[in-house]
Amino acid sequence: MDDLDHRSLGSRLELYHLQDDAPGMVFWHPRGYAVYRVLEDYIRRRMRRLGYAEVRTPMVLPRVLWERSGHWEKFRDNMFLIEDEGGREMALKPMSCPCHVQIFNRGLRSWRELPIRYAEFGQCHRNEPSGSMHGLMRTRGFEQDDAHVFCREDQAVEEVGRFIDLLDEVYGELGFPDYEVALATRPDERAGSEEQWDWAEARLAEAAQARGVSFAIKPGEGAFYGPKLEFILRDRLGRSWQCGTVQIDCILPERLGASYIAPDGSRAVPVMIHHAVFGSMGRFVGVLLEQHGGALPFWLAPEQVAVAPVSDRHGDYARQVWEMLDRAGIRVVMQDGNETLSRRIVGAHEAGIPVMAIVGDREAADGSVTLRRRDGSQSVLKLEAVAAQLGATPPS
Ligand SMILES: [Zn+2]
Repeated sequence: MDDLDHRSLGSRLELYHLQDDAPGMVFWHPRGYAVYRVLEDYIRRRMRRLGYAEVRTPMVLPRVLWERSGHWEKFRDNMFLIEDEGGREMALKPMSCPCHVQIFNRGLRSWRELPIRYAEFGQCHRNEPSGSMHGLMRTRGFEQDDAHVFCREDQAVEEVGRFIDLLDEVYGELGFPDYEVALATRPDERAGSEEQWDWAEARLAEAAQARGVSFAIKPGEGAFYGPKLEFILRDRLGRSWQCGTVQIDCILPERLGASYIAPDGSRAVPVMIHHAVFGSMGRFVGVLLEQHGGALPFWLAPEQVAVAPVSDRHGDYARQVWEMLDRAGIRVVMQDGNETLSRRIVGAHEAGIPVMAIVGDREAADGSVTLRRRDGSQSVLKLEAVAAQLGATPPS
């Protein structure tokens, strides 16, 4: 494993760990979880702006629900099963889809209300072979930036198109302008009629073509309830990882009894669109770490600024600087202690902290801070100008 592999970076930068007795389950350490939360907040703001309401649904659900959705028949081997005190079989959710249908079903829906869009950072578990685990890239427990749109048939292409626009914007901002797209079509093991599959596959292709997105075909690789567009990123060694995905599903809403009142007063079944921009949040953190070699851009860095007093007598002023930056929403740490200043600068650099705020006699006297960046460049700024100069906020 080389030094820039996300697994090496994860332990060197103290971001997370995995252990043999819990295969594929990630223990996020404070610094790693900070990155994770920034990424979560970033996508949360985007989804909200696009009209998604965030929800939270249970992690453990009874077998009967999974039977109704069809997961029990088609996906049971990948599910962690448990029992409640009455011996009733339950499963850890491998995905949140059936839960969102339960929320949709709790109201009388009119065609005028559609599309209805739900988003969830869903904690999912899949019981995959322990030998297939790979750092953050392939895990058994993961969180999806999951979303489901309930819409009419005539809205499906536009909804998929909106998702493609969102994904393209986000991947561009995060430094992945080049990604591959594939259309995964009906698998052998599937539910629904051929007409439903013809319709859903054609709508995905139509939405991609309308956005000028070219795609490969992956025959037979769709989900059992619908075809999907997969958005694939490559790691440093050229291995490809599916990250984003969007699926058109005519099966689950029908099976789980979802309906809305059509213009003529009859009951119609909505189309369900499933999508995730990052896919697994953890996997995306892994891809980002490799992309940046651990030197994450300022807005994503777990610790953004280290305040370093030149000597003990600058401690009080350093404390003021720390507090000012903390109040401005910047993730800031103190880099004091007995080591020499140059040693502390090296330490901050090795920890992936992008900016040092150095304070000595001159800075304390005139209320300023010397900012030293990763590339060695330095500038002196008045304390009140520092936060604005650094730009604490992620792209929005
Ligand atoms: Zn889903």
